[in-house]
Amino acid sequence: MTSNNNQYDVAIVGFGLIGQICAKVCSQYNLRTLVIESRSDAEFSSNAISFDDESLRLLESIGLYDSLKELLNKPDFIDIVLTNGRVIQRNPVLNTDNGFPSICTFFQPEIEKIIRKECKADDNIDLLFDNELINFNTNDNKVRLDIKSGNKLNHFEALYLIACDGTNSLVRKKLDIETVDQRYSKNWLLVDILLKPNYSLENVFRQICDDTRPTTFISQSSRRHRFEFQLLAGEQHQKAIQINNIKNLISQWIEPDQYEIENVFIQKFRGSFAKSFQKDYVFLIGDSAYQMPPYASQGLNTGIRDILNLVWKINMVVNSNCNKDLLLSYSLERLEQVKQTIKSSIALGQLIDSLSMAFQKNIPLEEAIAPEARDQAFGKRNSILEKDTKRGIFSNSQNELIINRRLFNREITNNEDNGCLDKIVGNCFAIFSKKDVKNKLDEDVYKKLINLNFKFIHDYTGFSVGSELSEYLEIGEIILRPDRKIFGLSSTTLNINQLALELLMQIE
Ligand SMILES: Cc1cc2nc3c(=O)[nH]c(=O)nc-3n(C[C@H](O)[C@H](O)[C@H](O)COP(=O)(O)OP(=O)(O)OC[C@H]3O[C@@H](n4cnc5c(N)ncnc54)[C@H](O)[C@@H]3O)c2cc1C
Repeated sequence: MTSNNNQYDVAIVGFGLIGQICAKVCSQYNLRTLVIESRSDAEFSSNAISFDDESLRLLESIGLYDSLKELLNKPDFIDIVLTNGRVIQRNPVLNTDNGFPSICTFFQPEIEKIIRKECKADDNIDLLFDNELINFNTNDNKVRLDIKSGNKLNHFEALYLIACDGTNSLVRKKLDIETVDQRYSKNWLLVDILLKPNYSLENVFRQICDDTRPTTFISQSSRRHRFEFQLLAGEQHQKAIQINNIKNLISQWIEPDQYEIENVFIQKFRGSFAKSFQKDYVFLIGDSAYQMPPYASQGLNTGIRDILNLVWKINMVVNSNCNKDLLLSYSLERLEQVKQTIKSSIALGQLIDSLSMAFQKNIPLEEAIAPEARDQAFGKRNSILEKDTKRGIFSNSQNELIINRRLFNREITNNEDNGCLDKIVGNCFAIFSKKDVKNKLDEDVYKKLINLNFKFIHDYTGFSVGSELSEYLEIGEIILRPDRKIFGLSSTTLNINQLALELLMQIE
């Protein structure tokens, strides 16, 4: 961690949900962090509405889950239905192998209030509201930041700049990184309502293939709900946002005197991504790096996976003196996965449109949907499981099937049957083995691993090991990265010393 008061390890520009969570993760790695936010402390966004189980897992590992859980709603179902109520697909929301519900919804301002409070109380984080980043440059292994507050111009320095400054990212523009447009653009009307006492609506996350206009209905809590209505070609925005129109659209669910409207806005659902997520010492994460239509609810969750991928690498460089080239793997590892997630989100939107159209024109559903659109939209969470053939910080002999695969938290459970892989490993690299591996490692290799805070795990007394980890342990020893992805697996042709050396070559 840097010790000079005017210098930071990391500067984060933008304090939306991604900037907030990123700041907490940086702090957990003991990185001295400056956050710059142009808005005031009184302003909140209300776009995102859900975390998935991987995001909840990260929130737990940085100590935020307990303070947020009261504000999280577990829907009964995620489903896709036709106008006549016929269910096309319905999945109950269950706990996954990470030990959390597959999805939890929320009201963003309530979540932001809690995370902001935690960031303000954090000694590693300095927070500047009402401060706008207007310029930056990278020289002498540092990023110099020009920040405007009212008429005052201030200057700060950081080793690394993380851009969490949203869709219109100044940082992305200044870096002159080209954006690829996925040629998807639909306007949607979004309406958040608060039910009056004694009224209720179903607790679901529902896509409705309405034959007049595709619609989404999402419960955020027992009283808060969001409606999303696709705007049709030629429909005027001014008319769409009129109260009478909104009340009319909602009237099939609830009477106008039974709720208040809290928030109305029109949002363009788009798909695009920056061609690279980094340049020199500057990284793009979340909406600053890409946009995706929110049908699959993955924008925020994908940004959280960016954080998970990037910050441990910055920590290794800043606090363990690892090679800066390690950071080049961030864009390499994230870009392909983000592209797949955008593709799946767009495919889900197209699937909903085709189902709506098929119902309207009375075409058999199977004929209306291209099989690849169905696979891309639903294909066993393929984009979300993050399988990918391109390599980053992985062993060269690593099996393609486990590249980029994150071990579930419940791969190790305690006597109370709680997932606890994350607690055992902490923020470190780990070696899992059946027996102590110290004697199998050269002395200098072992010393280096100790200096890098490696955990050596071979005693499982009081724990149960899950089927995936058990299977790998039958093959050899496993090196797990701090983000719980498998760096590599030793085997009869590659012993643990060689595997550890391969990792050291990549990061030292
Ligand atoms: C309708 C809708 C529904 C969605 N639903 C979901 C969902 O269910 N699940 C999900 O995972 N995702 C969802 N998303 C996506 C999700 O909302 C976004 O991915 C996420 O909120 C992006 O957060 P962010 O912090 O990257 O950006 P933002 O929230 O846009 O924050 C950027 C911040 O940067 C600040 N800033 C910008 N420029 C500067 C500057 N120069 N200096 C200082 N500060 C600056 C801004 O003031 C702002 O506070 C949804 C999006 C929409 C539109």
